Amino acid sequence: MARQLPMLINGEFVASQTDQWIPVTNPATQEVLCEAPAATAGEMEQAIASAKAAFADWKEVPVSERARLMLRYQALLKEHQEEIAEILSQETGKTFEDAKGDVWRGIEVAEQAANIASLMMGETMGNVARSIDSHSWTQPLGVCAGITPFNFPAMIPLWMFPLAIAAGNTFVLKPSEQDPMTPNRLAELFQQAGAAPGLLQVVHGGKEQVDTLLTHPDIKAVSFVGSVPVGQHVYRTATEHLKRAQCFAGAKNHMVIMPDAKKEQVISSLVGSSCGAAGQRCMAISVAVFVGDSKAWIDELKDEFAKIRPGAWNDPDAAYGPQISPQAKQRVLTLIKQGKEEGANCLLDGSECTVEGLPDGNWVGPTLFSGVTPDMSIYREEIFGPVLATITFEDEDDAIAQANDSPYGLAAAVWSRDIGRAHRVARKLKAGTVWVNTYNRYDAAAPFGGYKESGYGRELGVHALEHYTQVKNI
Ligand code: NAD
Repeated sequence: MARQLPMLINGEFVASQTDQWIPVTNPATQEVLCEAPAATAGEMEQAIASAKAAFADWKEVPVSERARLMLRYQALLKEHQEEIAEILSQETGKTFEDAKGDVWRGIEVAEQAANIASLMMGETMGNVARSIDSHSWTQPLGVCAGITPFNFPAMIPLWMFPLAIAAGNTFVLKPSEQDPMTPNRLAELFQQAGAAPGLLQVVHGGKEQVDTLLTHPDIKAVSFVGSVPVGQHVYRTATEHLKRAQCFAGAKNHMVIMPDAKKEQVISSLVGSSCGAAGQRCMAISVAVFVGDSKAWIDELKDEFAKIRPGAWNDPDAAYGPQISPQAKQRVLTLIKQGKEEGANCLLDGSECTVEGLPDGNWVGPTLFSGVTPDMSIYREEIFGPVLATITFEDEDDAIAQANDSPYGLAAAVWSRDIGRAHRVARKLKAGTVWVNTYNRYDAAAPFGGYKESGYGRELGVHALEHYTQVKNI
């Protein structure tokens, strides 16, 4: 029988009493790595009650002491980065380098949480009226909840609970049921860093457990990262129950390429940003918009696509891993098929991809389309696979209008050596993040989030703290 994953409730890793267990598989082999419980209603209640009780003490703990916990935690995370990355690679299939990056981008936020005192400083104004001064304090909310997706099982939980807890809240995390081993390991290290029982709870499950968090009167704020339909359900339900909610959802990110851009950099960036992590990044580029003569580079792009292949997490020559599940693979294959049926030109088709020695993996090879038009499914839908659609325009304004004609608006990029032009385009693109002559760089202090259906709210830095705190004026 597969190992049954425990949950962290009231400072203890406990075996669930549930009779519903969710298999967690290695997507390169289909081996069942463990089973995650669907927490019972009673276990959900215990976790929330423990977080509520812990808040009563934690909110009184001086900010410097809260920061010290995060200092110890970030040091432990760094010490265990490779070990966490190996667990992450097993359950997601990500290459080891990619998995280490997933952990690292989370560590950066734990580092930031160790600097919580300066982030929480208020404002003062002397003599606002005769003999009256005014000052403000930033105070925590209570029990916060986080619901996270499969594609960054280290980074996204770490973008949430360290800041929330450093700010004085307690936290209930419900990670993705597809890769819950990594978040459990993060939680073990948090306990090892000296977290008091109850500061962090980790419960497992799916919709039922999420809905409990969204409707429970003792949860004050909800953070969600995942797909658009679930994000909208989470936002509607949480706000209907008068909770704060921030939801970060799906995407269809465009890269706009001007003919004066550096060709080699553009091509290399397109390969990495569309196929990296098997296209299973919210920030993946899935549409390349070539303006004017830059369309001549599509042939070279195809040659570079043809050079990469997926493979096992520990294969140093693999550019990326498998899709997370057979269902996810099937969805990508269906969209590739639709793209061909709807008349796009499939320059490279990864539908029949195999990997030697791993016949059962959810492999999809790099796939490139040209002649894509905005009415096609491969243009409109988030594919979440290593598939890039290319479209061409003669005019900058048409390219921008097309990039903006999308229900999504998470990220975009523009490449041009004319910096005035690049910034003009960046200003007009409707996306929460726009990169200029680069792609996929983050700063843990910079705001992160989407326009339109890609989300509501901002993560990271002071922007995240606005979600996790309230301000009192004295
Ligand atoms: P998902 O929406 O299927 O699942 C996310 C979480 O919601 C999981 O914890 C899951 O258990 C829970 N859930 C699933 N169905 C639910 C339901 N009906 N009701 C309540 N909860 C439910 O997303 P996923 O497949 O795990 O992740 C991929 C998606 O996440 C992609 O769309 C990707 O673009 C998006 N994403 C967005 C960002 C961002 O910052 N905007 C970052 C990473 C991923």
